[in-house]
Amino acid sequence: MNSPTYDAIVVGGGPAGATTATVLAQHNRRVLLLEREVFPRYHVGESLMPRTWFTFERLGVLDWLKQSGSPLKHSVQFVSTSGKVSQPFYFFKTIEHEYASTWQILRSDFDKMMLENAAAKGAEVHQAVAVRDVLTEGNRVVGVRADTAKGPATYHAKVVVDATGRDALLASRLDWKRRDPDLNKIAIFTYFTGALRDPGLDEGATTVAYIENKGWFWYIPLVNDVVSVGVVAERDYLYRDTRDPEAIFCDEVENCQWIREHLAPGTYKGPMRVTGEFSYRATAAAGDGFCLVGDAFSFLDPVFSSGVYLALKGGELVADAIHAALDKDHEVVTGDAFEGYEREVRHALDSFRQLVMSFYDPRFNFGEFITKYPDLQPQLVDALVGNVFKDLQPLLDALSDYSKSQSTDFAAT
Ligand SMILES: Cc1cc2nc3c(=O)[nH]c(=O)nc-3n(C[C@H](O)[C@H](O)[C@H](O)COP(=O)(O)OP(=O)(O)OC[C@H]3O[C@@H](n4cnc5c(N)ncnc54)[C@H](O)[C@@H]3O)c2cc1C
Repeated sequence: MNSPTYDAIVVGGGPAGATTATVLAQHNRRVLLLEREVFPRYHVGESLMPRTWFTFERLGVLDWLKQSGSPLKHSVQFVSTSGKVSQPFYFFKTIEHEYASTWQILRSDFDKMMLENAAAKGAEVHQAVAVRDVLTEGNRVVGVRADTAKGPATYHAKVVVDATGRDALLASRLDWKRRDPDLNKIAIFTYFTGALRDPGLDEGATTVAYIENKGWFWYIPLVNDVVSVGVVAERDYLYRDTRDPEAIFCDEVENCQWIREHLAPGTYKGPMRVTGEFSYRATAAAGDGFCLVGDAFSFLDPVFSSGVYLALKGGELVADAIHAALDKDHEVVTGDAFEGYEREVRHALDSFRQLVMSFYDPRFNFGEFITKYPDLQPQLVDALVGNVFKDLQPLLDALSDYSKSQSTDFAAT
């Protein structure tokens, strides 16, 4: 056996990978991060959840965020299909802490900063290195095989962290990836400049505007007068007349008064992008010598902006689990080291998923839900800001009326 050069190899330098690598380096572990692209590169997923603040504090990047010019997000608001705008849901009304305000981030800049921070904290970061496969001894993963600018290369480590995002390198290789049968959506999205922003505190708000047939628009104000706008709905609904993304997008804008009015003074910046294969989860999060984190483990419909938060939090949990495992046994990290991580992330995903399923239930309405269950308001706030790594059973029980799944075992697999 080759003696491993690194304690850990992290594959992918998005929020999950950068967080894992940074925390491992902070634990004085020898970590190599391999990223296929050269940053900055475009990425969707710009609206943060308030509880990302605590990971940013741990990573030491709060100052960058505060000085980045990223619009402050104090709230989320919902617009009904008839054009009625809800009272903005201000986080500071229930949270007396700095984390009540979060940011709308341009991912190209944010991800580059996170990767540079990982390197500054001691991780070895290589860009333009595409990992093709893992190296194994028996059932245990012991390294990776990659293509670099200089040709093929192999790297050895005690553990490999798959943070390859929606590529889901290992879940695909192992046939662990399962589509969520209830959330078969696609998204069509783009950028505008000079589009309308609401005044004052609401300038950086995320707006979710419902469209017919269980769909919605996001409207996310970004730095430099850019707005990110996207429509999410069932594939069959959006593709009913044409598969031309621009035609579909324009058609849906035309039918959604709030979005139409806000985009009216703006200029289309493009390009138009499409993402399919929306929600999925791997059947397991780890094995001997490896684990999956962030979108490489699971992706959930983005209506509550949970993706980056779960990537950050998952990165912390995975790095701490590896550090603890290597403290016990200096040479190998077995799959059971990740049991706690997997349990916590599944719990968080199940909680968010129930909220997402309720959102798509035509009978569900936030205002009416709180009127019916006033005692559950704090738990609902917890879920919406990302405080889901705790017991939310009373809330989940009440939501279960609205979130009946076609598949009883999807979340449990
Ligand atoms: C339409 C849509 C809207 C969204 N909106 C939001 C939102 O508003 N808020 C939010 O929080 N989340 C949102 N998300 C989710 C968010 O984008 C993801 O959850 C988040 O980026 C996950 O981070 P990650 O680090 O797991 O993966 P990624 O950010 O995708 O990073 C993975 C990295 O791995 C690299 N990589 C892949 N394969 C390899 C390989 N073989 N070798 C080396 N490197 C590799 C990639 O280049 C990439 O840089 C949205 C997602 C979609 C699809």
